[in-house]
Amino acid sequence: MANLRFQVVEEAFQKKPLDVKAPSERPYEYFGKKVFNREKMYKYLPKDVYEKMIDVIDNGARLDRKVADAVAAGMIQWAKENGVTHYTHWFQPLTEGTAEKHDSFIEHDGKGGMVEEFSGKLLVQQEPDASSFPSGGIRATFEARGYSAWDPTSPVFIIDDTLCIPTIFISYTGEALDYKAPLLRALHAVNVAATDVCHYFDPTVKKVTSNLGWEQEYFLVDEGLYSARPDLLLTGRTLMGHDSAKNQQMDDHYFGSIPERVAAFMRDLEMQALELGIPCKTRHNEVAPNQFEVAPIFEETNLAVDHNMLLMSLMKRVARKHGFRALLHEKPFDGINGSGKHNNWSLSTDNGVLLHAPGKTPEANLRFVTFIVETLMGVYKHNGLLKASIMSATNAHRLGANEAPPAIISSFLGKQLTELLDHIELADKDDLFTMAGKQGMKLDIPEIPELLIDNTDRNRTSPFAFTGNRFEFRAVGSEANCASAMIALNAAVAEALVNFKKRVDALIEKGEDKTSAIVEVLREDIKTCKPIRFDGNGYSDEWIEEATKRGLDVEKSCPKIFERYLDKASIEMFEKLGVMSKKELEARNEVKWETYTKKIQIEARVLGDLSMNHIIPVATQYQSKLLDNVQNMRAIFPVDKADKLSARNIKIIEEIAERTSTIEKGVEELVNARKVANKIADEHEKAIAYHDTIEPKMDTIRYQIDKLELIVDDTCWPLPKYRELLFIR
Ligand code: ADP
Ligand code: MG
Repeated sequence: MANLRFQVVEEAFQKKPLDVKAPSERPYEYFGKKVFNREKMYKYLPKDVYEKMIDVIDNGARLDRKVADAVAAGMIQWAKENGVTHYTHWFQPLTEGTAEKHDSFIEHDGKGGMVEEFSGKLLVQQEPDASSFPSGGIRATFEARGYSAWDPTSPVFIIDDTLCIPTIFISYTGEALDYKAPLLRALHAVNVAATDVCHYFDPTVKKVTSNLGWEQEYFLVDEGLYSARPDLLLTGRTLMGHDSAKNQQMDDHYFGSIPERVAAFMRDLEMQALELGIPCKTRHNEVAPNQFEVAPIFEETNLAVDHNMLLMSLMKRVARKHGFRALLHEKPFDGINGSGKHNNWSLSTDNGVLLHAPGKTPEANLRFVTFIVETLMGVYKHNGLLKASIMSATNAHRLGANEAPPAIISSFLGKQLTELLDHIELADKDDLFTMAGKQGMKLDIPEIPELLIDNTDRNRTSPFAFTGNRFEFRAVGSEANCASAMIALNAAVAEALVNFKKRVDALIEKGEDKTSAIVEVLREDIKTCKPIRFDGNGYSDEWIEEATKRGLDVEKSCPKIFERYLDKASIEMFEKLGVMSKKELEARNEVKWETYTKKIQIEARVLGDLSMNHIIPVATQYQSKLLDNVQNMRAIFPVDKADKLSARNIKIIEEIAERTSTIEKGVEELVNARKVANKIADEHEKAIAYHDTIEPKMDTIRYQIDKLELIVDDTCWPLPKYRELLFIR
């Protein structure tokens, strides 16, 4: 058989960019075209129903059956006008990605015919056969009933002929089996806690919203090349592959002009995303060859999470249409930058104040400092948990590699904010503010002009960096559901704000002035959370040492990092805030450990298979050719001369023999280690065994294969090489 690799390389070179037809309308005109948003609600719902829905969305009012029926009626009318025949409850199970089960609208009309129907009941609740979604044992398989319930705060949208209804997914006994349910609870908790704290500064604040703006990084690989790499196909990353002679050292890809085929893909993706109401704004090349980024304008966190999930699936679809595969894996290529998903996060009030942005008056600045410091308090106290929230078998390859945030959570504040906090901490309290008679409080809190804030000295190595009017949680993985990080972060900050308020109130009760009480507690907290602040180089070995001294979590093993979810402090926080119960946390950890094990297990199998069926046979074939050559030399020349002439070949023959035998031995050990690990019943222990005994063996095998790639005849090598995967587009 002809070498598939060369066939797909040839085909890839011939592919032309698709002609993407731009709609005749301007983007603002087709934005949200496929979304049942407020504008559509206004048009398709009776006025009283519309008002009730707005109350449900904005203020969390209860949705009664009658209203649901009326909403469903308006919705189906709109849907039919858009050629929709089916509907689905769209939810986010604990596996990656989203799940959907499509039903059509048709029902018997009782007279032998069919009608199309969609009631409020179907809109609001469904019972998908959920037995095969991971539940960590909460819902035994015989009792397969989990149900999905509409989340009216995230609008319904259309994909092809299907009406997609964002829902939460919970077990029959009420435990969350998804990401959305706990996310909504965490957002509620931070809203309540932050609103309370806002009242010190502005009693009219009614609501605090958590904002999320994600930046999604990804790779594109030609689909033909992709399909010739069983490892990419089955695990999402290359399990072998020697560095390309050129990779990203020239930095010529970053922000460079976008290759044509990719540009067509991006245009297509962006148009479809806008129709779905995803406010895509930025697209560009990333650091690594064939790596790109897309980012929308930030939105309310729950909606932003849904939009990210939707965009990831859209991306995969659109990529295929353009002859690409989108790789969302955090580390598809060894030695090349991985992909992250920076989560830009902030809090803002219903009357338009960005709580993480510096203010113009001393009072506004005190509020700013309050939210900064209490954010840091939450991140400090739960730094281990936050790391757990972004950790996965796949992201583990990216973190701590020298181009991604290190596997230690710390926060970069920049020079100006650091100076401000130092000033508040160290200044004499009497100097900090004086009671200025009638004018009331005079605070000596220097103003930070927003534009000047450290936009330039961005610390790339910081996992949680302050960037002017928000924090950027950079440790989040490209493949992850942002909800995981957002649940932990919003809950941690909610808890810190609750504690803050308790202490300030206690001082006020004792007769202390409000501002003075706030400053006093802040000064204490600035000291307490200092260990989380780090503006230095997160890649250095000294940082690991220093972070250990500071008591930060420096654990590197993924399954052990998950343990942080079950720390006393984590359980207490989640339970107190009503975000998750201990039972839910335990169940979810079972799922995390199991998923981890399965991923490594699949990788190990694929690596074993590729080693034995692709690499060793090809290397041996090449070795035989060389042996023939050596024999032939001996047939014509005297032995001495022949051997001298064949010296290089003999060396390679030996090297191949040694390397293939090491690989074979490695694969055997890998299989045996798996057998041992598979006998462990406890998911936690099993995951640790996979991490400790199986992963390192895979590295050894890969090392040998990559060396073979360098010596085996290029024309025999079966797998597309890094240079092909990374530079053809
Ligand atoms: P970068 O320079 O890091 O690439 P961008 O300006 O592209 O940053 O913004 C990244 C994301 O941050 C965008 O989604 C943007 O809307 C979002 N963002 C900007 N300000 C805020 C904020 N205050 N809160 C949350 N997200 C924000
Ligand atoms: Mg950014």
